[in-house]
Amino acid sequence: MILDGMTGRVEKKYPLLHLNTWRIGGPAEVVYWPETTEDLFSVWKRAREADIPVWLIGRGSNLLLPDEGLPGITMVTTALRKIHWGDFIVRVEAGYSLALLAQEAGERGWSGLEFARGIPGSVGGAVIMNAGAHGREIASQITNITVLGTDGTLKNIKREEIKFAYRYCSLRGQAWVLEAQLAFSRGEREQILKTMKENLANRTANQPIEKPNAGSIFRNPPGDSAGRLIEAAGWKGKRMGGAQVSEKHANFIVNNGSAKSKDVLALIDAIKNDVRTKYGITLQTEVESIQTEMTISQRM
Ligand SMILES: Cc1cc2nc3c(=O)[nH]c(=O)nc-3n(C[C@H](O)[C@H](O)[C@H](O)COP(=O)(O)OP(=O)(O)OC[C@H]3O[C@@H](n4cnc5c(N)ncnc54)[C@H](O)[C@@H]3O)c2cc1C
Repeated sequence: MILDGMTGRVEKKYPLLHLNTWRIGGPAEVVYWPETTEDLFSVWKRAREADIPVWLIGRGSNLLLPDEGLPGITMVTTALRKIHWGDFIVRVEAGYSLALLAQEAGERGWSGLEFARGIPGSVGGAVIMNAGAHGREIASQITNITVLGTDGTLKNIKREEIKFAYRYCSLRGQAWVLEAQLAFSRGEREQILKTMKENLANRTANQPIEKPNAGSIFRNPPGDSAGRLIEAAGWKGKRMGGAQVSEKHANFIVNNGSAKSKDVLALIDAIKNDVRTKYGITLQTEVESIQTEMTISQRM
């Protein structure tokens, strides 16, 4: 009933493992891919009135999903892909691939997203995580964002009204990003494409992209690197169930084929405790974990 009259794909009892780069997760009761932001809003509103939980996923590249699946409606933004190219300004819907946007901007000779070519997230996920690499982050390119707030209102918010920091955005848990406007500067096309190619080669050499993973597990603590600490504590290559600390980069946990969410959570906990005991540093997770016991405010 909630999805009556809506555009876009709907699946029942759909395996969450198809919706994230870790390839982990049990069945979602209902998965919905809205094709318009109006339909996303309507479904969110109807579900809220009916007290049905709603979860939001972009490209699932920073997400651990539960083995027991998710009740209610899991909304996936990847069909929200409208884009409008202006004069060194782009207005783009939340589900657009960040890497594709970076490539397309580069092809036009627009500079600003060179760092993002290898980040496998959506634009909305990148805004909410303030995704970054190579000393740059998406916050620098944002001019304004259209959001759906937890109070049910649609708002256009200016960059200055949002607080960004390292992998932090003040909208997190407060709003869903529907659309973002990003600004670029004029650059040298060949140089931009070369920089992106080098960044990608660097990732292939240093990250375990051949196995399912969700990028960096922990944020880097101030002045140090999480990967260095985890490796020094002896965790490289260690396994719990089907989850393994990557041999290539200790801040990545890979799925060896049969990993469960509980294996990853156990490994994260063990690493955290050990690093705290050995070095007195409490690592903070960068990766998001959606677990069914989460409260309404966390899931919106
Ligand atoms: C191989 C690999 C390399 C990576 N490298 C980097 C890197 O260099 N730098 C970096 O910063 N990250 C990196 N990541 C992590 C990840 O790609 C980013 O965090 C990305 O921005 C997540 O976007 P997503 O669409 O996949 O979000 P998801 O994983 O789908 O969701 C993450 C969180 O954001 C929320 N969310 C998603 N979309 C929206 C929206 N529209 N509005 C509000 N909330 C939303 C979700 O509810 C969830 O809480 C990497 C991941 C992988 C697998």
